[in-house]
Amino acid sequence: MESKSKVAIKPFHLFAALVIFSAIIFLGIKVIVKYAVKKPVRNKRKSGLPSVRITLLKKTPLYAKPDIKYKLEGTISRGTKLIADKKVISEEKWTFYRTKIDERYVWIIGQFLQNKPVIIPETGILPIGKEKVDVNTPLPFDYQPHDLVKVPKKFNTPYDNRTHYLRKPALEVFKKVINHAKEQGIKLYIISAFRSAKYQMRLYKRAIRKKGPTWMGTAKPTYSEHQLGTTVDFTCKEAGYNIGTHFENTRAFRFLMENSKKYGLKLSYTRNNKQGYIYEPWHFRYIGKR
Ligand SMILES: [Zn+2]
Repeated sequence: MESKSKVAIKPFHLFAALVIFSAIIFLGIKVIVKYAVKKPVRNKRKSGLPSVRITLLKKTPLYAKPDIKYKLEGTISRGTKLIADKKVISEEKWTFYRTKIDERYVWIIGQFLQNKPVIIPETGILPIGKEKVDVNTPLPFDYQPHDLVKVPKKFNTPYDNRTHYLRKPALEVFKKVINHAKEQGIKLYIISAFRSAKYQMRLYKRAIRKKGPTWMGTAKPTYSEHQLGTTVDFTCKEAGYNIGTHFENTRAFRFLMENSKKYGLKLSYTRNNKQGYIYEPWHFRYIGKR
C-alpha cells in the first residue's frame, strides 16, 4: 500500500513543481520588463521634476539662478510654452522652474506659470456644474462664457458703482437666493462676480506684492472660479459691505449656510479646504442641483 501511494503521488509533485517553476519564470520576466520600462522615468525623476509643460501667464523675466537677485536681461512673452525639468522654492518663497531656452538653462518664477488648461467644448462654453477649475486646473486665458449678463445694480453695495456680470442661469438663481433672504429681512449684496483672467492678474499681482508669493487668498489668473461666471462674493451691511472671515458671524452667512444647497450653491473654500486656499465664507459658486 505504502509504495503504491508513493508512486501515485509522484506525477502530482512533478506537476506542482512545473507550475511553481513557470510562475517563477513568469514573475521574473515581469520584473525585468517592469524594470526596463520604468528605468527612463527614474532617470528623469533624478534630474528634478518629471518634465512638465508650462505656459507663461504674463511677460516674464528670466533668472540665472532660482533667486530673484539673479535676474537676467530680457523677457519672454505671455503664452510661450516651455518644458520645465526642475522646481525649487527660493528663500523668499518664490517658486522657480528651470527650463531650457536657446540651449541654455534659465529659471522662471512659477507664480506666473500655467498648467495645461481644461478643454473648452465646441459650443465655446463649459456646462454649469461640470467645470473643473481648481488650484491645479486652470481655464484658458481667454475663456469668457458668452451668456454673461449684467447683474442688476440694486444688488451692488452702496459704495460699488461697477457693473458686474454673471452667466444667465447663475444670475437667475442668485436673484432667487437674494429675494428669499430679503423675505427674512436679510439684505445680501454681490460685491464680485465674473472676473476675466486679465482682471484676476491685476488682483493677484497686487495681493502677492502685499502678502508675499505664497499667499493663498487670491487665485492665480485662469485658476479662479470667478472666471466661470457662476461665482459670487457676497457681503452685507453687518459685514461692513466688505469681505473677510468676519462675514461668517453675520445673519446673511447663516442664511446662506441654511439655504444655499437647496439652490445648488456651494461654499467653495471651507475651513482647511483641500486646495489650500484660505477660508472664504463669502464665496459661493452655482453648481446646479445634484
Ligand atoms: Zn470669490
